[in-house]
Amino acid sequence: MCSSAPTPVPDEANGAPLGIFGGTFDPVHFGHLRLAEEAIDRLGLAGVRWIPAGQPALRGAPGADAPHRLTMVRLATAGNPRFSVDAAEVEAARTSYTVLTLERLRRHECCGPRRPLVLLLGADAFAGLPGWHRWRTLFDLAHVAIAHRPGYPIDAGNLPPALAADYGERFRESPAALTGTPAGCIVSLAMDQLAISATRIRRLLRDGQSPRYLLPDDVIAYSHEHRLYPENQIPKCQ
Ligand code: ATP
Repeated sequence: MCSSAPTPVPDEANGAPLGIFGGTFDPVHFGHLRLAEEAIDRLGLAGVRWIPAGQPALRGAPGADAPHRLTMVRLATAGNPRFSVDAAEVEAARTSYTVLTLERLRRHECCGPRRPLVLLLGADAFAGLPGWHRWRTLFDLAHVAIAHRPGYPIDAGNLPPALAADYGERFRESPAALTGTPAGCIVSLAMDQLAISATRIRRLLRDGQSPRYLLPDDVIAYSHEHRLYPENQIPKCQ
């Protein structure tokens, strides 16, 4: 773990840290894409593995079905060789839990037990971590990078006490900490601030307004083609 004596990671056996980016992606937008792109450059990651949730545990049913959300992530990330998409959570017919996904990746040849994994979380998601299934085990399996997000200041004083304690113990200023051990550190990702949310995009689409320039055109076209977020039927004036 980050706070104990680090176990060196031999590069040749484990590779550079890999970013793990889960989310509902309902739909995927430029806030997500910039987060992943900046994480690679600022944190020295080999790449980012996108993992759309099949059935998210902590929210109601998404607007779009999981296979459509997966396709939209594939459309948005296509052509970026530093991104890969992992369909396992969508294909599993059960609630998606990040801890189970990380345990699976640790058994997988892409990662193994020693490769540093970096769970990418927006500041809002990080603050909610104590609500996640077996949340403390996450730190045994991966580092955590907290992406700054407008409206969600990262302030230890406002975190739930249990999480604030971990934050204080595990936080490291330098991303170099991510290469020293496979898991257990927390770092900050001061990305360009984009006040974009999927909630707002769904609302625009349902109100018949344009979400253009908040997400890729291909994704907008796909959502229209499959009527994923149909316009509200507002009664016409007589
Ligand atoms: P919704 O509005 O439906 O809750 P969302 O826009 O927050 O969706 P998610 O799929 O829930 O998107 O987010 C996946 C991850 O991306 C989360 O860790 C979230 O904090 C992060 N994230 C989403 N949008 C941004 C953004 N604009 N800036 C930084 N992080 C973001």
